[in-house]
Amino acid sequence: MIPALEAAGVRYAYPNGRDALSDVSITVERGTKVALVGPNGAGKSTLLLMANGLLRPTAGEMRLHGEPFRYDRRHLRELRRRVGLVLQNSDAQLFAPTVYQDVAFGPLNLGLSEDEVRRAVTGALAAVGLRGFESRPPHLLSGGEKKAVAIAGVLAMRPEVLVFDEPTSALDPASALVVMELLDELNASGTTIVISTHDVELAYAWADRVVLMDGGRVLHQGRPDEVFLDDGLVRAAKLRLPVVLEVHAELAARGLVRSGEPPRSVLHLVHALDSTRPAEGHGAVLLVDAGRALPGDLDRLCRAPGVHVGAMGTAAKALAESEGVRLEFAAGVIDRCLLKALLGEDSVILCSTAMLGHVRDRVAEFEARTGLSVEVRDPLQAG
Ligand code: ADP
Ligand code: MG
Repeated sequence: MIPALEAAGVRYAYPNGRDALSDVSITVERGTKVALVGPNGAGKSTLLLMANGLLRPTAGEMRLHGEPFRYDRRHLRELRRRVGLVLQNSDAQLFAPTVYQDVAFGPLNLGLSEDEVRRAVTGALAAVGLRGFESRPPHLLSGGEKKAVAIAGVLAMRPEVLVFDEPTSALDPASALVVMELLDELNASGTTIVISTHDVELAYAWADRVVLMDGGRVLHQGRPDEVFLDDGLVRAAKLRLPVVLEVHAELAARGLVRSGEPPRSVLHLVHALDSTRPAEGHGAVLLVDAGRALPGDLDRLCRAPGVHVGAMGTAAKALAESEGVRLEFAAGVIDRCLLKALLGEDSVILCSTAMLGHVRDRVAEFEARTGLSVEVRDPLQAG
């Protein structure tokens, strides 16, 4: 395991306050998605502010790639480039009169040339799906768009670790899904991601590792199923079980599913129920590289009768929009397509190039877990 970010015995007390963090030790492995989960006041935000040096531990230390943080100006600047922090409240993060100037702030501070700054800003805005927003004033954007600008501002610095306080708070469900998909896309291209949340559904479905916190302490860190299946822990952290686990436990108690491995998602739960019926033929997943698809291909594939169409990744969604392809799934796409495959129906996933491997990995994981085989093919490759 290669640690990206570590807290070692970290303590912190706000001026005139009780300890907000007492002896917190966590390790965030490189390339993973980690969720800090806990009720209000647990210390999540304090720990995230610590992760890019905005707060400094009263005792203990923070480390990046094994190196203890240093708090002189030069090291802090370097730290804030490598660990990008997106605040819970976007209005506190966005300050420039235009989206362009806001996103350009970090790269300008790094002393990049005008050309390099322009490239960094354009790339970051494209990555969050905000091409064309350059001259808009941030304060007139929607909540989801503001979050996206704040993320772009951090991405423009090309951070190794992205730290995001309550990414979905104050967003409607659709915008929340868009933001979480964006985080998946960044993670698929190598960024380590740490979020805080008190949304157990989100943490359970999204994270590779969960750090359960309460009262400024870490109660447990581990795989999501391991953390959430421990009743005592969940109660101690004043949280509740994710709904899929609760439903699975009730079905298992009635003998309707095998108790076995706990489901991670609706897909797993449905499979557990399905596997008590005789198997029928499964549908296929047609995985289309949005970087190579021509308009004619899209017409042919996506308008075929009865086919389900989803898009993954910012570039793929932009392509769908520009080609007028109607998307049935714009979030949770892999699971939804696998659910259709279990019903014997085909789907097309229009996918950004960087996400292709992620889709194949997720399907392989599902196959390994269930012993089923689901055909994933590239209809353009087949010719
Ligand atoms: P969470 O993000 O999990 O809700 P916080 O890190 O915001 O928790 O808060 C941890 C503790 O620190 C709480 O007891 C909170 O009241 C206290 N706290 C947070 N911010 C401040 C502050 N600026 N000044 C004093 N106390 C604070
Ligand atoms: Mg908080």
